[in-house]
Amino acid sequence: MFDWLVVGAGFAGSVLAERIARERNERVLVIDRRPHIAGNAYDCTNAEGLLVHKYGPHIFHTNSEQIVGYLSRFTRWRPYEHRVLGQVDGQLVPIPINRTTVNRLHGLDLDEAGVERFLAGRAEKVAEIRTSEDVIVSQVGRELYEKFFRGYTRKQWGMDPSELDKSVTARIPVRFNTDDRYFTDKYQQMPLEGYTTMFERMLDHPRIKLMLGTDFSEIRDSGLFRRVIFTGPIDEYFDYRYGRLPYRSLRFVQKTLPVEWHQPVGVVNYPQTEEYTRVTEYKHLTGQRHRHTALTYEYPSATGDPFYPIPRAENAELYKRYEALARTTRDVWFVGRLATYRYYNMDQVVGQALSTFRRIQETVPVTTGVFAPGAARALPRTGATGTLGQASVTGNPADL
Ligand code: FAD
Ligand code: UDP
Repeated sequence: MFDWLVVGAGFAGSVLAERIARERNERVLVIDRRPHIAGNAYDCTNAEGLLVHKYGPHIFHTNSEQIVGYLSRFTRWRPYEHRVLGQVDGQLVPIPINRTTVNRLHGLDLDEAGVERFLAGRAEKVAEIRTSEDVIVSQVGRELYEKFFRGYTRKQWGMDPSELDKSVTARIPVRFNTDDRYFTDKYQQMPLEGYTTMFERMLDHPRIKLMLGTDFSEIRDSGLFRRVIFTGPIDEYFDYRYGRLPYRSLRFVQKTLPVEWHQPVGVVNYPQTEEYTRVTEYKHLTGQRHRHTALTYEYPSATGDPFYPIPRAENAELYKRYEALARTTRDVWFVGRLATYRYYNMDQVVGQALSTFRRIQETVPVTTGVFAPGAARALPRTGATGTLGQASVTGNPADL
């Protein structure tokens, strides 16, 4: 019998498994239906030996010292400031829109105050900023909105920015200066040996057992666990009782080119042309040196793995009904991007998992039982994630 079942070995699940095993000394079974840990942050080396992110570029950034401090127990870091260029009107210009972007596109040489005046002169008055269109046209006007946001958003989400909550495009600031960093957070850094290695260390504990390639539905009724941390889609947990929550998916096309570099920065966005939204060149992110270079092209899709909750009022309403159901479901905690239907970055998920752990500490008495290290049966390793130190790995529920 396990004290906890953790469904999903991404940030939400792995942080909670680690906290519960280390701080409460309870037995934790972690499952994931994928053949690997780390959730969407999973990275691995490809056939040519280049470190790539299987599910698109993951750049770590946060303002929280507490979150960096926690993750630093499991990884060292390499400083990395992310930069993005957009292919707009045949030129590569900085995104977020900044002074350089405005000057290049319009053949001008404005200073900061000049750019501010230029944009203010084009910005539209919007009585109430509600949608992703409102956010942008109220800052830069319709022309730049159409060049940078309308097409990209329609591709990425399959709907017009006017149909999406303001929070989506509000992720991207507008700047009057020449700061061309994508993020301005205090901490901007990548795990030195990659995300998967960081997760291996997080899950490396004798009280944690890992079972990959296993869906929750396979062991839901096994009676093997007392409590559940669920990090998959919340509507799936409740068998879509109120209908499906919409998610947006992506198809990733990975390429390796026999050249040292393909593009000047980590990510190039394509807001006006192409079926893909952006191209990532990993060596910029990882600092790896190699004769060849690895790229990911992201093609948005209505079907496939649920990657993005879709921020719209009607979806938030539907989620609230599931959330109310979740509150009445005893001994199950819903955590993470899919289980709380929030467009969260990695650091926000870590923060959410750490605060869930604090709540568990306050409300759930530790299960007492005599733990004899070594008494657990040695299980075969599937090897899907490489060595996992002391955590045992199995892909077969019968082994439990
Ligand atoms: P996930 O990583 O999705 O983990 C959930 C896990 O649960 C999955 O592995 C899934 O297989 C498993 N699971 C689900 N249901 C079941 C079930 N029924 N049975 C068994 N297992 C199940 N964040 C940043 O901070 N910076 C970035 O640059 C960034 N870039 C991103 C780029 C893309 C393309 C995407 C899609 C996301 C990006 N993110 C980024 C967000 C980041 O991926 C998430 O915040 C984070 O990975 C969420 O962690 P999680 O544990 O909530 O979910
Ligand atoms: N966006 C856009 N053009 C861009 C970059 C972003 O229209 O060049 C919009 C788009 O709707 C996108 C959102 O802003 O989905 C958030 O962008 P971000 O880069 O944060 O997306 P993520 O990395 O989460 O996919």
